[in-house]
Amino acid sequence: MSLFKKFPFKDKPSTVAITCAHILDEKNPILYVFHDADDGCWQFLCGKEHNIEDSRVISLQQIYEIDKSVKKIANLEYGKCAYRKDKNSEWNIQ
Ligand SMILES: [Zn+2]
Repeated sequence: MSLFKKFPFKDKPSTVAITCAHILDEKNPILYVFHDADDGCWQFLCGKEHNIEDSRVISLQQIYEIDKSVKKIANLEYGKCAYRKDKNSEWNIQ
């Protein structure tokens, strides 16, 4: 399927990703991306304070649909974090 060929992540589109209610429900921009070194889990977060009720489980495909600019950090290595000042800034890798 062409959809999957274009998918920028090495992981499958159905891979579980964690995000927050601010991004999913309130349409805040994604400003922080973590690729966990232990379990390979992806987290896509805004810059706000978070507690457990704010977390939402979705898929990499859904994140990509919310913001296509995550393709620029799709090869983020395990244990790394990508961040940016705002939606129009370039990603920094830490
Ligand atoms: Zn948030």
